[in-house]
Amino acid sequence: MKHNVIIIGGGVSGTALLYTLCRYTNLKNICLIEKYSDLGLVNSSPRMNSQTLHFGDIETNYTIEKAKKVKRYADMVMYYLEHEKAVRGEENIFLVVPKMVLAVGKDQVKTLRDRYTSFSQLFPKLKMIGREEIGKVEPRILEGRDPDQELLALMTEDGYTVDFRKLSHSFANNAKALKPDIAVYLSTKVEKIIPDGENFIIKTNKGDFESESVVVAAGSHSLKFAKSLGYGKNYSILSMAGSFYTGPKVLNGKVYTMQIPKLPFAAVHGDPEVHNERITRFGPTAKPIFFLERYNYSTFLEYWQTFGFSIRTLKSIFKISSDRVIFNYLLKNVLYDFPWIGKRSFLKEIKKIVPNIEAGEIKFAKKVGGTRPQVINNTTKKLELGEAKIRGNKIIFNITPSPGASTCLGNACEDTTILMEFLPERFTFDRDQFEKDLVKADY
Ligand SMILES: Cc1cc2nc3c(=O)[nH]c(=O)nc-3n(C[C@H](O)[C@H](O)[C@H](O)COP(=O)(O)OP(=O)(O)OC[C@H]3O[C@@H](n4cnc5c(N)ncnc54)[C@H](O)[C@@H]3O)c2cc1C
Repeated sequence: MKHNVIIIGGGVSGTALLYTLCRYTNLKNICLIEKYSDLGLVNSSPRMNSQTLHFGDIETNYTIEKAKKVKRYADMVMYYLEHEKAVRGEENIFLVVPKMVLAVGKDQVKTLRDRYTSFSQLFPKLKMIGREEIGKVEPRILEGRDPDQELLALMTEDGYTVDFRKLSHSFANNAKALKPDIAVYLSTKVEKIIPDGENFIIKTNKGDFESESVVVAAGSHSLKFAKSLGYGKNYSILSMAGSFYTGPKVLNGKVYTMQIPKLPFAAVHGDPEVHNERITRFGPTAKPIFFLERYNYSTFLEYWQTFGFSIRTLKSIFKISSDRVIFNYLLKNVLYDFPWIGKRSFLKEIKKIVPNIEAGEIKFAKKVGGTRPQVINNTTKKLELGEAKIRGNKIIFNITPSPGASTCLGNACEDTTILMEFLPERFTFDRDQFEKDLVKADY
């Protein structure tokens, strides 16, 4: 059977697109191909990410423009989750806790106070709070802290902690309920994509598939497929593994620290586990590794194929790592994964949030934390902030570092719009309904 669209990758991005196509378009022959035996086992697994729905209010590395886009897209996920809970009583996909970004010391306090002026307009629920109120929400932030240290925080009550793997299942189940003819092929690995006249042949370990258009939502593997078809030559991937340390419940909600301005990685934060609020997770760290997937050592060769050695890529790497701030940061982060010394070094970061925490209270979380495919633009020789989308001839490739899970529905909306251009006249996208449900829903 020839498909209208084939989606490669069953993480939160691929399944969000599957849901969007089934709910808001009249496309019929759609299938999703996933290489593992279940959906959401790679970066969308709750073990692999920080489980945060990022809106841009407490992430101090976002500009107001970036925050506007992330908020719009995160709102879509929030409305979807609230709707599922209201209609289906879906439990256990998410929990809502207070969240704040904490400024410590004179300089950080000034930066955060200045930021509040513009960000409070975009986020009206954001409150600026001082030491006393911080202590009421998060007593452990004050315990053992120098009383003369200046403190300020921006906080809201709506810190969404999400199991993005369960969200992937929810998207796929709803898609199947809407269009029972669609197919989700698990344990099916795409080996090659071959353009064939107006169509594509998708070669897998379970045989060939044919489609008019393709969306590759395979995380860092998307760039590998793009390059195999001659796209995305100016991009490389810096695979940034993130590890976590866990401890007992020392926080009631999410507490973020202030971002180092140059870095595209989230600053260290403490979050409750989505399925066990008695555990606080601190992290993630950011360590470069040479694999497309963390803990999957067979992706070593694929990493280097995707990296694409050339003078231009080497120049980019040299330029990025010769920046003192980035170099020192990476060096420090490599250390965090070492036994004993790693824990002691990372403890210093955690103490910025919980000053009197002891080494005995925390432990390195084994096999927790995926890897972010941070895109290097070899033309600008800089790290890109956020996701990258490469548009080819009737094919789209999505590369999704953080906050790719928060933006999954917004990204699916963008892809659906492009797919309508790929498959003109026969199919329609009910964007009005999409926006009514997911942009300005009333609850
Ligand atoms: C440490 C860390 C912390 C993070 N924290 C957050 C956070 O708090 N909030 C947030 O929004 N984002 C966060 N992210 C980012 C987020 O996890 C990802 O952006 C998101 O999960 C990407 O979803 P995806 O579906 O694009 O990719 P994935 O979930 O990786 O899914 C890709 C799928 O493609 C499949 N695939 C790959 N190759 C093939 C093939 N050849 N054939 C068939 N299938 C294939 C894979 O098996 C996989 O299931 C974090 C990431 C990391 C690593």
